[in-house]
Amino acid sequence: MLIAIRGATTVDNDVSQEIKVAVKNLLDEIWAKNSLHGKNVTAIIFSNTCDLHSYYPAKAAREAGYFSAPLFSAAEPDIYGALPKCIRVMILAESSEKPVHVYQGKAVSLRKDITAKFNVAIDGPAGSGKSTVASLLAEKLKVLHLDTGATYRACALACVRAGVDFKDEKGVKEALSRACISISYLGGAQHTYLDGEDVTAFLRTPEISMGASDVSVYQYVRNKMVDLQRAFAEKNSCVLDGRDIGTNVLPAAEFKFFLTASPKVRAERRMKENALKGIEQPFDEVLKEIQERDFQDKNRKFAPLKQAEDAILVDTDNLTVEEVLAVVEKYIQVKI
Ligand code: C5P
Repeated sequence: MLIAIRGATTVDNDVSQEIKVAVKNLLDEIWAKNSLHGKNVTAIIFSNTCDLHSYYPAKAAREAGYFSAPLFSAAEPDIYGALPKCIRVMILAESSEKPVHVYQGKAVSLRKDITAKFNVAIDGPAGSGKSTVASLLAEKLKVLHLDTGATYRACALACVRAGVDFKDEKGVKEALSRACISISYLGGAQHTYLDGEDVTAFLRTPEISMGASDVSVYQYVRNKMVDLQRAFAEKNSCVLDGRDIGTNVLPAAEFKFFLTASPKVRAERRMKENALKGIEQPFDEVLKEIQERDFQDKNRKFAPLKQAEDAILVDTDNLTVEEVLAVVEKYIQVKI
């Protein structure tokens, strides 16, 4: 059926670059939350308040890659009291899902009914299931999932590509001061970029796992990644999984969970995951790697892995993914 997805955003200044960025961010989030792709979009219709003269939103959308459907934009009449410098969009799309409307910037004030923003922090050690649970939870809540580990993994990859040893703090800092790490969403799934290249497929090797744990001890690396994660969480309702989300990145997150499991169970899970990806590794090696990472993550100086005082502890040793999800959802419903 044909659905109409609404959205709006604002800019602070009537300058073309701001309009371009605002339009791209708005469409990126609408696309991610509604699982849109070129084929199911019928039309993209913009309007903007008449105090914006610098750029056409439709042109900005085309430049951002949204050109598979007809685009149109028009200026609104000058209405007293209207939210200034505002860009509105309506997207007509074929979908069997309910539309998820998106309001960003000061435009959140237009739809307080749907824009109550919240963040869910899920922390825990490697193999505790946090990433799987975070991804499923985000899908159910119709929000985005930010896998923060992927951002540290991209840092490790940047070092490999620059030929820098993970233990060389100065070299790591230098390599990362030149590297641009960013994320975006395609069909709701996170993609991680290093200097503009989508490196998602290269981040799950044992070398990068250990490298991420090595480089994430450095304050420079943590500050850079935490800035990225906070900026994202400030703009979007999302589920974030990591090691220090509840304690350091977002101490005021609305919901906090800490998932644990014994090292043996976690190593078994990692073995299964690896086998699916065609990575063969002996059990003892996987267990040793998990224990080394645990030790390093828990004992580092900056933002070590630990349960936030107000986080709900879920021991996942004897629980299936669905059971963990049910526990987490129960708390979120209770609190909402
Ligand atoms: O979660 P994942 O296994 O992908 O994380 C890789 C490494 O990145 C972890 O072992 C940890 O050292 C680091 N990390 C971190 N803080 C986070 C997420 C991951 O230090 N929020």
